[in-house]
Amino acid sequence: MSVDEPDVRAVAQAVRDAESVVALTGAGVSTASGIPDFRGEDGIWERHDPMDFHIDRFRSDPEGFWRDRVKLQASAFDDGNVAPNAAHEALAGLESAGHLDTVVTQNIDGLHQDAGSEDVIEIHGSAARVVCRDCNQRFDAEPAMARARDGDLPPTCDDCDGTLKPDTVLFGEQLPEHALMQSQAKAESAGVFLAVGSSLTVEPAASLPRVAAERGATLVLVNLESTPLSGRADFDFRADVTEALPQLRRAVEE
Ligand SMILES: [Zn+2]
Repeated sequence: MSVDEPDVRAVAQAVRDAESVVALTGAGVSTASGIPDFRGEDGIWERHDPMDFHIDRFRSDPEGFWRDRVKLQASAFDDGNVAPNAAHEALAGLESAGHLDTVVTQNIDGLHQDAGSEDVIEIHGSAARVVCRDCNQRFDAEPAMARARDGDLPPTCDDCDGTLKPDTVLFGEQLPEHALMQSQAKAESAGVFLAVGSSLTVEPAASLPRVAAERGATLVLVNLESTPLSGRADFDFRADVTEALPQLRRAVEE
């Protein structure tokens, strides 16, 4: 499914003219890389018990938490064998060409950075990192994950021996305040706000595009299905993100 070319050219013009362009990305950008949606039908939380990944479980039983986390890693991220897709590449390309300021993402897979995006705000954290509960240092997740796979549970900090936690927002945990404030500020100053592959039903993703539109941003939605903001958007592309975003990037660069 491709989107109407004159509309794409109009969005491209708005992107070129805007002082600040912000993209919000949701699960639809990750599913195109083969990562199952966490919510939804046949999602991760249909196959794993969300309570196993609650912060209280981590606190009371870090060993069991990590044992389950290893299984989740295998089924959600194919043990790390996932790669960026054309939507990630298009956003990274727009950024490197100076047409995109920031990606705010609900996804935790780190694929925007893998594609080359530099200014990424991860409002649900990142599974590509772990954080030490004692000294707060962050490390690449893979060595910790490898140790956990080998039965070294729970993996601990090389520096202080504190317990390592995936640097993602667990059930029962607050979203990172700094990331939230940053993304709110970016939304307020955006000239164009692209909401991509998000159903826009979970906070803060639901409110960021609304805030941007209220402040005068051109609001562009790219999602296979309609969203609560579809009626409000300047452009509502019901399209595959891996087709629509490369199409937009080409139009911006024409
Ligand atoms: Zn530590």
